[in-house]
Amino acid sequence: MLNMEALSALAAEAGFTHSAPLDVATLELKDEVRAMCSANTCRAYGKNWSCPPACGELEDLRQKFAQYSRGILVQTVGEVEDSLDFEGMMEAEAAHKEHFAALHEKLLETWPGLLALGAGTCTRCKECTYPDAPCRFPDKRVSSMEACGLVVMDTCKANGLGYYYGPQSIAYTSCFLLE
Ligand code: SF4
Repeated sequence: MLNMEALSALAAEAGFTHSAPLDVATLELKDEVRAMCSANTCRAYGKNWSCPPACGELEDLRQKFAQYSRGILVQTVGEVEDSLDFEGMMEAEAAHKEHFAALHEKLLETWPGLLALGAGTCTRCKECTYPDAPCRFPDKRVSSMEACGLVVMDTCKANGLGYYYGPQSIAYTSCFLLE
């Protein structure tokens, strides 16, 4: 049984603004989200080991997810001037990735077999080795929730976590499947 109070304290310590218990049964891996990846609007499709198609088939991911029942959803809400404030968005995303890396390290001490799902493509290396050479850090590589076919807003809703905090806010969400 997870101690959610202790877990949310760890999340806050890592810098996240919000967190919520995650019921893994609510995670729906959808083919249509994968189809959006292949439209390549984010320009990461087929360019990174953490993204489709390299990150694996949804059926294999479903089997992986089935090994877990509970975890934690974590979120960083940043401020932006408006919907065109790309600098503000990038700052919030960078902060979220920092929080995520800090909590990931911490949680691995107790749950070495955890499954971490991030936000956005893996940016650990300046340039990804895909597809010419193996990933440099396969143990630390993290795929995004979307790359796994998840609709982030639906996942938040199903687990009682907010998603939209107003026009001058932007939220980045990730999760850890723990046990
Ligand atoms: S760790 Fe490096 S090589 Fe591996 S997926 Fe991330 S960016 Fe690519």
